[in-house]
Order: sequence, then structure tokens, then C-alpha cells
Amino acid sequence: MNGRKIEDYRGVVGDKVIALLFKESTPLRGKRLLNVNSTYMGGGVAEMLWSTVPLMNDLGIEYGWRVIHGTADFFPITKKWHNALQGEDVEITEHEKKVYTEINQLFSRFTHIKHDAIIVHDPQPLPLISFYPKRQSWIWRCHIDLSTPNRDAWEYIKKFILRYDSTVFSVDKFAQSDLPNEKFLIPPAIDPMTLKNRKMDRKEQEEILKDFGVDLQKPIISQISRFDKWKDPLGVVKIFKEVKKNADAQLVLLGAPATDDPEGEQIYHQIVEEVGDMKDVTLINQQSDRLVNSLQSLSKVVVQKSLREGFGLTVTEALWKQTPVVASDVGGIPLQIKDGETGFLEDPEDYEGFARRIVEILEDDALAANVGEKAKEHVRNNFLITRVMLDWIQQIKTVIRSTRVGFL
Ligand code: UDP
Repeated sequence: MNGRKIEDYRGVVGDKVIALLFKESTPLRGKRLLNVNSTYMGGGVAEMLWSTVPLMNDLGIEYGWRVIHGTADFFPITKKWHNALQGEDVEITEHEKKVYTEINQLFSRFTHIKHDAIIVHDPQPLPLISFYPKRQSWIWRCHIDLSTPNRDAWEYIKKFILRYDSTVFSVDKFAQSDLPNEKFLIPPAIDPMTLKNRKMDRKEQEEILKDFGVDLQKPIISQISRFDKWKDPLGVVKIFKEVKKNADAQLVLLGAPATDDPEGEQIYHQIVEEVGDMKDVTLINQQSDRLVNSLQSLSKVVVQKSLREGFGLTVTEALWKQTPVVASDVGGIPLQIKDGETGFLEDPEDYEGFARRIVEILEDDALAANVGEKAKEHVRNNFLITRVMLDWIQQIKTVIRSTRVGFL
């Protein structure tokens, strides 16, 4: 249960941040704000809503969260949008566009909006705005990498975005230059008080890993990410094959499914094929926050081999646990990793570069400890959930002020 209160964060973020949250949120007390996204479980968006929604309510803001109801064919279509917007060459048919908008229209009948501002996350519920009389501020919060979208998909989706009062991106290069809407930047962040991120007893962590079949005697290299082609788990297995030539280690790939991502099972089978009869590889596709925590804490190296990455909360989570991260130099990852200082960045095409770096860390405990320490401070100063809340409070105040209905 998330019964956490703002005060619970004092020990981690200090008194000043707590006082600022209460002060800055005063004009929003009693205001009704609504978030709409497409899953309650799996992925970074749900992760942040689980934390921010109760805490915003603790500040006195009526901050709500609804999840769009999809049908069996809706999520494969919205995943196609996701892939196309991240640059894949896929064609979305007229029928698929129709299902996409009709499900949004149907959902508008289930969801009555009398709020002061609406925050719509990602492409799945984006068309909702077309199905309400616009009586309040609407914000589109895009979490994905839009830097090289498929042009046809972008042109179609843009017509919905233009209706929004403002947009929010994680990284400035994701905001397309042909988008005239007001743009804000809010890099994501982690909640240090969750089961996934708070300090755990080492013995308990070891027991959990043992229960999932992880060998505690061998150094662990892991990637914790949905089984999604953009996270490139097949690439991680290829890198591990290179690592094995020079080090005795094991690979753990953890990828719990997300309810709005229908491709996980197919990718899982591809990984099984790529692994073949190779030893020292463990695949886990179950959701467990304590397992994520234990794996991120006890790994010698956490890998994030993404080809595209909106931000990569998994990177932040591992940095917070002082575990060295070797990650692709893409999307929001370089915001978190200063190469050689708070972690290591590699070219996603350079498998050998990844493998060399991993072996270097496995062989140099002092390097790992030094990077781990700086990584945690970097997260403490920039990527904790209280900063995201302050950013949202400012953003919502600005948008409500500038779009006040009845103001001419
Ligand atoms: N996650 C998890 N279990 C898993 C894999 C991922 O709980 O098996 C969580 C992970 O800890 C992180 C979120 O899902 O909090 C993924 O967020 P990220 O921004 O890294 O990627 P997204 O899935 O949103 O693209």
C-alpha cells in the first residue's frame, strides 16, 4: 500500500524541498487535475503515477488517475503507433486509425471530465481531447523518443496534439520543431521510498535472487526492462557472449510484462532462441519490486542497451543503488550518465565496446565504487520524485493561468 506522506521524504530530500512543495502548491489546493494513461502496471509512466498521485493529494490537490480501457485490438495498434513514432517504418492502416480513435471516443463516455486540467500521457489516449467540449487546460505528456518519427504517423498524430494547450517532454531533442504548441521539459525521476528503491537488507536480497534461480557465487550482469525490441535484449545476450570470452559471469534478464505492451511474449521467445544452450543466463518475466531492487543492488553491472529510450527509469534506479551502469548513448540516458563519472555510455551498435567496458568494471572494484558513489549523488540532486512534483506544480499553474476560461 502506498500510504506515504510528503513528510516521509524529509530524510532524503531535506526540509527546504518539503517546505517549497507546500508553498508552491498552495494556489492549486482544491483544484481538480486528472491524469490519463494506458496501464496501471509496467513501464515508467505507471511507476511515476503510483508515486506522484498520492503525494499530490497529500498536498491538497485533487490529483486523479484513470486508465484508458482498451479492447484486444487496441493495444497492438497503439504499440504500432509507439513503434512508428520512435522511427520504425510501419504503415498504420485506415482501419487501425479508426479503431484507435473510436476506442478513445468510447472511453470518453466512461469518463466524465469536470476537472481544471487534464494531463494525457503518451499516444494511446491522445485523441481523447477531440471528444470533449474543451473547458479546461489540456497537457500532452510525451514520454517517448520523438526525435526521428515516421513522418506519416507523425502528421496524423499531430492533428490531435495541436488541440492541446501545452506539451511536456523528457528531453528537449524529442520535441519536434514543427510542433507550435508551448513546450516544457520535465525529466522523470524515481521514488526513493518505494519497495523498489528503498534500502533493503542484503541477506533478504540474496534470498530473493536465490528463489529466482540466480547463482550468488558468480558476478551478475543484468538488464531490467520490458522485453521490447527498443530495449534490445537480444543485443544484451550478444554482448554477454563477448563478455564470456574474458570473464566468468552470469546474465540475468528481467522483463515483467506491461498490460499495454502486447509484443513482450514474442520478444521473450526470440531471446530464448538467441540464448540457445548457453550457460549462465537466467530469464525472468515476473513482476516483483523486491526482485528489481535486489537485482539492481547486487548486480556488478547493470546494462541498458536501448536503441531508443524516452528516459530510462531503470538507469536512475540502478544509479541510486550505486551500481555501475553501462548504457547506450541514446534518448534521456545521457542526462543521467556523465560518461566515466556517473556511469558509462556506449554506442548502441558497438557490442564489443559494451563488453570491454563490462569486463573492465568486473575487474576493478575501486572504479565501480567511485562511479557508484557519484551516481547516487547525481540522482539525489536531480532525479528524485519531489523534483518532478515541483516541476509539475509550476507547469500546471502556468498552463491554468494562461488558459483560464472566460479570460479575454
Ligand atoms: N520494471 C519492473 N519490472 C521489470 C521491468 C521493469 O518493475 O521486470 C520497471 C522498472 O523498474 C522501471 C519501469 O518498469 O521502474 C520501466 O521504466 P523505464 O523508464 O525504464 O522504461 P519504459 O518501460 O517506461 O519504457
